[in-house]
Amino acid sequence: MNWLLLEPSDVPAGSPVVLRGDQARHAREVLHAAPGQRLRLGIVDGPLGHGEVLGTDPDGSIRLRAEWEATPPPRPRIDLLLAMPRPKVMRRLWPVLASLGVGRIFIANAWKVERGYFDTPALAPVTIRAGLLEGLRQAGDTLLPEVTIHRRLRPLLEDVLPTLPAYSSRWIAHPDASASTSPSALPSSGRILLAIGPEGGWIPDEVALFRRHGFAPLSLGTRILRTDTACAVLLGLLHAAGA
Ligand code: SAM
Repeated sequence: MNWLLLEPSDVPAGSPVVLRGDQARHAREVLHAAPGQRLRLGIVDGPLGHGEVLGTDPDGSIRLRAEWEATPPPRPRIDLLLAMPRPKVMRRLWPVLASLGVGRIFIANAWKVERGYFDTPALAPVTIRAGLLEGLRQAGDTLLPEVTIHRRLRPLLEDVLPTLPAYSSRWIAHPDASASTSPSALPSSGRILLAIGPEGGWIPDEVALFRRHGFAPLSLGTRILRTDTACAVLLGLLHAAGA
């Protein structure tokens, strides 16, 4: 963990911040926190900052004098529509997605998603939050991506997305070399939406549905990547293209 993230309720105005539990253990055992040392801090959904170690209490908690930046980090411009992968892959992905930087995550159904996946603990709010916080601590971000779960794909595209501020570009990732558009063509402003398919892939009707809703095809060629690899590469490409 590169940044220690505190809940807003753990940051009393005008008093020292107290690190407890796992984060205090990490500060003691990994960062070797000692009086005067500066640790990187953040407040969940608030600003980043740093804390000067004042001392360690007998119960192992650590007192810090904290200073905060004026504003929270900017929300990433990319939102992700992800067809629900196997639950163990989904669990692995929460920290990866938060560390790569996404503003919002739509977990969606698709023809090749097994229905039972939606009833697993990988989608429990406590699992999602813990995974996302781990990724934010890794990357030095504080803004929890907003996560919504959609058991039907078509209503997500036809009823939910139109109620949100319009995306300046929409992409559907599909391993089809004949249908590639370069992500270097990103508009300089506005939000971007990337759709990544299930482990069995998008079926042709779904690709056609996305195309009708303004999604441009995005392909990395004919090599088929695992969902977690595809998420990392595609989000990385879009960020590198200015997202
Ligand atoms: N069995 C599927 C197939 O043959 O198409 C593979 C699906 S892949 C594990 C999961 C998702 O990752 C795909 O639906 C797509 O969105 C994305 N993906 C994987 N490889 C890709 C590539 N070469 N280009 C673009 N997207 C890719």
